[in-house]
Amino acid sequence: MTLSVNERIQLTPKDSCNSELAAGPWAFDAMPGYGPGSSEADPVPEPTAHPGQLPVAYQQMEQDELHRRIRAAKAALGDELVILGHFYQRDEVVQYADFLGDSFQLAKAALTRPEAQSIVFCGVHFMAETADILSRDDQQVILPNLAAGCSMADMADEDSVEAAWEEICEVYGVDPQNVQPDAEGKLPVLPVTYMNSSAALKAFCGRHGGIVCTSSNAETVLEWAFERAHRVLFFPDQHLGRNTAKAMGVPLEQMPMWNPRRPLGGNTEQALVEAKVLLWHGFCSVHRRFTVAQIEQARTEHPGCKVIVHPECPMPVVDAADAAGSTDAIRKYVAASSPGDVIAVGTEINLVNRLAAEYPDRTIFCLDPVICPCSTMYRIHPGYLAWVLDELVAGRAPNQITVSADVAEPARVALDRMLAAVPK
Ligand code: SF4
Repeated sequence: MTLSVNERIQLTPKDSCNSELAAGPWAFDAMPGYGPGSSEADPVPEPTAHPGQLPVAYQQMEQDELHRRIRAAKAALGDELVILGHFYQRDEVVQYADFLGDSFQLAKAALTRPEAQSIVFCGVHFMAETADILSRDDQQVILPNLAAGCSMADMADEDSVEAAWEEICEVYGVDPQNVQPDAEGKLPVLPVTYMNSSAALKAFCGRHGGIVCTSSNAETVLEWAFERAHRVLFFPDQHLGRNTAKAMGVPLEQMPMWNPRRPLGGNTEQALVEAKVLLWHGFCSVHRRFTVAQIEQARTEHPGCKVIVHPECPMPVVDAADAAGSTDAIRKYVAASSPGDVIAVGTEINLVNRLAAEYPDRTIFCLDPVICPCSTMYRIHPGYLAWVLDELVAGRAPNQITVSADVAEPARVALDRMLAAVPK
């Protein structure tokens, strides 16, 4: 039987990949890492560690009281408030969202509510940063739990990327602060960052002729980049970069990995010269759990079933699946299926369970039999939502995410380039 993470506010020890998830998220807010769950082994770089906190009264409150408070505060704040809920967020939280979507859909959705003074983002840190960059100056963006980071985003910190850029530019014989096109009119290298990255890295791309991509438009963005440069430095997710470039025909030998802990990223100068895509050594702890063996097992147990996975999954998994696509593409794939179809999905459990509930006339299940939610999304518990909404009603703005103008401006340049890049 598939256990739902949405039937309870906290997981029970026997359901999940880590029994410690049965505690409330506040039990790990003060921990140095990401807490128990899929991301627990990933180091949190010092500059991006965001300790969270929840007043004790909210930690101890009955569930009914938390939900009563959320409803009351929402009613009191009316149009001054917009709540955004990510697809990977638990149902106890997204039931209050005015918009449900992926990170970029949500940042754009907030723009359709200009009367909202407060944007409460039930997602993770980089998403709230993007919403702040795209929103008006007089709007405030609130992240209910500051400890809700993203282990993948944190795998590429600004200092490591700056250091890599200097090394790479030295190999190509260009000034890292002023990379100019060659006689062919192309840059030697151009940075591309996945949406799942800090505002500082989006700004880095904006300053160096680069661009942001999402999992929906990565191919379009790479086409844009290859029109302007001989090669790209793609961060933080190696899998999205590799899967996308491979589908475009780039040979694997021309996609060296850049390991920030090794000189030249662990490559020879020759490999860097011949490269088309330099892949940062980053990954999503949730999506890397999916395996080819799980796909084989699904096909054995459900002959004729279809398998769709997210492009943050490792390349062999994407190659073995029937289809791969962003969260939005997965939703559309399921919507286009027929009653009676069986679909195994390789993405975060909350989205899979929601799809299964939306389409009860077909069998939809997660490829991974162990429940392992995104452990940082999991940190947005209704207790945190109730607390920040009560604070807003009282005229205070807790956990505000503010991107300084010197970062927001170049980051917006990279985001605008992405918006202007259209598929051929
Ligand atoms: S699912 Fe992966 S990429 Fe998305 S927020 Fe969680 S750790 Fe980050």
